[in-house]
Amino acid sequence: MKVKGITERQLRSIVRKVGVQFNNGPTKIGNYLFFTLRLPQFARAPKAKYRRTGTRGRRICAVCYHGHFAVMQRILDVNPDAVIRSAVATYLGKDDFEAKAPSVGERNVGSMMEPRMFIDSCNCGGTFDMMLREVKPATKEKTP
Ligand SMILES: [Zn+2]
Repeated sequence: MKVKGITERQLRSIVRKVGVQFNNGPTKIGNYLFFTLRLPQFARAPKAKYRRTGTRGRRICAVCYHGHFAVMQRILDVNPDAVIRSAVATYLGKDDFEAKAPSVGERNVGSMMEPRMFIDSCNCGGTFDMMLREVKPATKEKTP
């Protein structure tokens, strides 16, 4: 994905706090930081949070929807006007993200024969209700 509106240092700090790692990047090109995410190595983090499962429920080293959500949410906490472009969606700031993220989680990442929603493609225990509760306190802080 790529993001505009935060510094590389801020991005590195966010990724570390969420508990994931960079697979590629971050690389700055123009106004955007390009990067992809992965989990820490299996051996060091066998129970890593945000592990996405493969098509047969296999554990793979990819970061699930909730992990990406957590990173994007923190980017938008740092700068509510940040622009995030991923393979599946473009978010123009925090309000746009909160409006679009639920439908992105419901996308089919399985196949026509074995449909599976992105949001269900992991064992991290994250649910959309949990994520919305995480979003709300951050929103409240701004409202006097
Ligand atoms: Zn998950």
